[in-house]
Amino acid sequence: MNPFNLSSTLGPTAWYVAGILLFVFFEYVIPFRAVTLSRLHRWRINFTMNFCNVLLIDLFFVYLLKKTAILPHLHAFNFFEQIHLNTLWRIVLTILLLDLAMYVWHRMNHAIPLLWRFHRVHHTDLNVDVSSAARFHFGEVTGSTIITYTLMLFLGATIVEVRLFQVLLFLMAQFGHSNIKLNPTLEKSLWLLIVPPAMHRIHHSNVKNQTDSNYGTIFSFWDRMFGSFVKDADQEKIVFGLKEFDNPKELMLLKLLMLPFRRNSQREPSKNNVTSEDQ
Ligand SMILES: [Zn+2]
Repeated sequence: MNPFNLSSTLGPTAWYVAGILLFVFFEYVIPFRAVTLSRLHRWRINFTMNFCNVLLIDLFFVYLLKKTAILPHLHAFNFFEQIHLNTLWRIVLTILLLDLAMYVWHRMNHAIPLLWRFHRVHHTDLNVDVSSAARFHFGEVTGSTIITYTLMLFLGATIVEVRLFQVLLFLMAQFGHSNIKLNPTLEKSLWLLIVPPAMHRIHHSNVKNQTDSNYGTIFSFWDRMFGSFVKDADQEKIVFGLKEFDNPKELMLLKLLMLPFRRNSQREPSKNNVTSEDQ
């Protein structure tokens, strides 16, 4: 049995674990910067959140989709079937459209205060590495899962096609968050099409204009197309996290899970331009 087979429910998990091992290896061999907090402490928090998300949401949704009687009716849209696409184009369009949907969703998470309450949990990480790609509140993951599966039904994409997208998405999220120093020429060429660590590092800056930029996960061109692309930042000087949550003692697992429900959801006011001072 091939553990990486995406037809099986555990197929994506095998890819997920392989991705972590690969990027952790590179984080040890070619680290971008020294860690300032206990890895064990952060990893315990980030991966526990992820484990709960997988159990509560991913498996539950997949189970629900397989068992539900409404599935054939929702599949009636079946966009792909109506325009007679071959397998390759179905896969290309599934990946492009779902990645665009995740870009829009991510942008909404920064713009709408209620969604930001959940998404800010991800941004509270004071170091950024491969484990940060696992740090999401289950409230946010519920939203992105509903969007993904609704689109799947609308498009008439198969569960394997969607899993292919999901695997690509989390491998790219792991890569984008990983604390690795790439060859500058290689990194420069990656910026043209996909999201390299340097691009996503700017998104994790504690300067609001930078946090509210570079929303892409797989492709970098959505940010260029929709005016949220920021490239000029001093990579060495970026401080990760949120200014309003910079105390590691306040960032324990239970407190993070309760963060969306805390009173102070205020963010510092946005400035119009990123200035050199900000960088
Ligand atoms: Zn974000």
